[in-house]
Amino acid sequence: MTAASLPPRPVTRFAPAPTGRLHLGHLVNAMFVWGLANRAGGRIVLRIEDHDRQRCRPDFEAALLDDLDRLGLVPDEPPTDGLRAGPSPFRQSDNGSAYEAAVQRLGEVADVYACDCSRSTFARWREAHGRPWSGPGCPGDCRAPGLAWRHDRGLRVALGDGAEAWDDLLVGPQAGPVAPDGDLLVRDRNGNWTYALCVVVDDRRHGVDLVIRGEDLLDATPSQVRLGRLLGRAVPPTFAHHPLIRRPDGSKLSKADGATAIGSLLDAGATPADLVGEAAARVGLLAEPRPLSWTDVPKLLANRRR
Ligand code: GLU
Repeated sequence: MTAASLPPRPVTRFAPAPTGRLHLGHLVNAMFVWGLANRAGGRIVLRIEDHDRQRCRPDFEAALLDDLDRLGLVPDEPPTDGLRAGPSPFRQSDNGSAYEAAVQRLGEVADVYACDCSRSTFARWREAHGRPWSGPGCPGDCRAPGLAWRHDRGLRVALGDGAEAWDDLLVGPQAGPVAPDGDLLVRDRNGNWTYALCVVVDDRRHGVDLVIRGEDLLDATPSQVRLGRLLGRAVPPTFAHHPLIRRPDGSKLSKADGATAIGSLLDAGATPADLVGEAAARVGLLAEPRPLSWTDVPKLLANRRR
């Protein structure tokens, strides 16, 4: 049983990436975010995680803001109209200078180095050694020569070795290696600041002390805790990793599953309560789907057994 408890009046966030339409998986995340925040008298920040400029699209962002409005999901800040109005501190693509400043700061306390490794460098290493690269460094040993920082090279930060542990609000005590697949990439070879960097910088800048997200991100957490510490965050946020909707074969539902797009389901006549009930049933919070209002969700989560 976890000893972790909800921080009093926490700040949490809903942080979708506009790489596709909002789907039932996001609705599960929203249920946990709004439900747990509501239970603890907390606040919810809406953040657009469009750090990947090749995959994110403004029309997907516009659709997701509309979907949130149609669902009746209201963040404490910013209002959806605030994001529609133009640049915002809550949209990653508008805040490159924050990530750049963080990498500068990291460079003062750790080794940040340019890296030429691509996916195929990792694949070749795996073929040659019969296991994937793991632990500090990278398969091309890019740290040693001190390559020049160029936009077509990635940037990695040496977080060190070892593990980080935390007591997860939903899945109990956890621990994992900080470099499960090499030193952490903070900028990719397309010049994008990476998810890991942006999420840690933004959670700090937005005052987030409760991170609620799917359990597919459990393995990403130790490096984020370590990165946060290097960036001056002495106390990591409380983490709550919730179950995901799985396809029948056990794989994670993704935006490619067009049939579950929230907008299409609403267009076809489903009500927000139908969809909340469907999402709750898909992760075992209800035995059978039934219409469920947002105000029922905190109670449902309080009764949930881990
Ligand atoms: N943008 C991430 C996603 O859509 C959120 C990750 C997180 O909550 O840390 O999966």
